[in-house]
Amino acid sequence: MGATHDRYEPVIGLEVHVQLSTASKIFCGCATRYGAPPNTQVCPICLGYPGALPTLNAGAVELAARAALALGCDVHPRSVFARKHYFYPDLPKGYQISQYDRPLATGGALVIRLDDGSAKSIGITRVHLEEDAGKSTHGPDGTRVDFNRCGLPLIEIVSEPDLASPREAYLYLSALKRTLEYLEVSDCNMEEGSLRCDANVSLRRRGESRMGTKTEVKNVNSFRYVEAALAFEIGRQAEILERGQAVVHETLLWDSGRGEARAMRSKELSHDYRYFPEPDLEPLDLDPAWLEGIRGELPESPAARAARFEAAYSLPEYDAGVLTTTRPLADWFEAAVAAFDDPKEVSNWVMGEVLRIANERGEPVALSPEPRPISPAALAELLALKAAGTISGSAAKEVLAVIVETRRGAGEIVRERGLEQVSDEDALGAEIDAVIAAHPDEVAAFRGGKQGLIGFFVGQVMKRTGGQANPQLVNRLLREKLVG
Ligand code: ADP
Ligand code: MG
Ligand code: ZN
Repeated sequence: MGATHDRYEPVIGLEVHVQLSTASKIFCGCATRYGAPPNTQVCPICLGYPGALPTLNAGAVELAARAALALGCDVHPRSVFARKHYFYPDLPKGYQISQYDRPLATGGALVIRLDDGSAKSIGITRVHLEEDAGKSTHGPDGTRVDFNRCGLPLIEIVSEPDLASPREAYLYLSALKRTLEYLEVSDCNMEEGSLRCDANVSLRRRGESRMGTKTEVKNVNSFRYVEAALAFEIGRQAEILERGQAVVHETLLWDSGRGEARAMRSKELSHDYRYFPEPDLEPLDLDPAWLEGIRGELPESPAARAARFEAAYSLPEYDAGVLTTTRPLADWFEAAVAAFDDPKEVSNWVMGEVLRIANERGEPVALSPEPRPISPAALAELLALKAAGTISGSAAKEVLAVIVETRRGAGEIVRERGLEQVSDEDALGAEIDAVIAAHPDEVAAFRGGKQGLIGFFVGQVMKRTGGQANPQLVNRLLREKLVG
């Protein structure tokens, strides 16, 4: 493989289907709720009864436009729906309504950050609207078809063949998902089929510009599998080329159990689909002023927000990246910083304890419908007690866990459990004097140069105070007294 890798380089382009977060389907009023019993969210329109007429869902158009604008595309004032014909049991009309030669949007880009920290722009060829098909389940008693998915609103986002490795494909998908989640265009839930990816890959001789024959791996339902499927396919194609043979243009299915891609069918060419304009739908005309309104309301992108976090809060790039992973997490962080003005301290607590607790409880950090796993104000109260020296860092962790369980305030919990640190210099001074008096040999050794004994003295004071002395203060007072 090593030698092959030197000779050939992968060329990868991804087609991503994303379900738009509308309450009803794209051409009828049926619900889009996931998990409903089979064939309960259907009607004559999405079942393709003869004579039933589609009506375009304006909400789906708005979400699609938002995604396309955020991806830097030109959204066209006029786009056209087309029928894409193929036969499959889960497609009752015998065609899918999609967009073909006049898509909603073209010519965008998504910037991804590579592992070495550099940025790479991946071209977006097009974004178009289409409807989903049903779902076939093959069981021992035959094949069953659930038409609930028929007519769910989708956008297909097609990338340029700009991705140069399976890892870049993974990073592109992660960035795309994050962007779409921020836009609230889709929940991007891969388990529920809201985000699906077809991966196209070919090899070309290094340094050559002409692309080789590609294959398309379908049905890859996790980003890790996309990475694995591409790596597998690159290896398979390399062996074919090494033998002097030609790669066949075909569609493959990824089998995650076996870790291999298997031929599904030879690839249709577009003329096999007999595309023609959908006669039952008007061309989609968008008012430029309406589009500009949508552009004006686009939320800050995750990348822009991370950059702002670095600059405005003086956070390391790493922190800014973690804190902007999701929009709810970033919102939560900003609310906490508004309540406790030490961004790095808040960041440390969010990235450490708060995210850990949220993961354990299986609930993402968020402000709504109610603040989870705790409210920013509750964390702020806790951090203020710690900053004032009232409680130690380890006591603060203990209190945080209790706040999450009981929803009570930090001050109350600290008082009730007697967790206040002793920060009173006179009280600590008396304890320290007692320790010094009790250990004359160690005192002499310390004064004779055994500086390491400071830990022993601190430990003794902590013991006498039941662990509640402020350790920084103990350290300073001890040194003063031992030296003096
Ligand atoms: P098809 O007609 O087979 O669907 P498209 O031209 O529509 O092919 O491209 C589909 C996807 O495949 C796009 O993401 C595109 O970037 C990618 N692609 C096209 N040609 C190649 C190639 N030779 N190698 C790898 N990817 C490619
Ligand atoms: Mg295509
Ligand atoms: Zn319907």
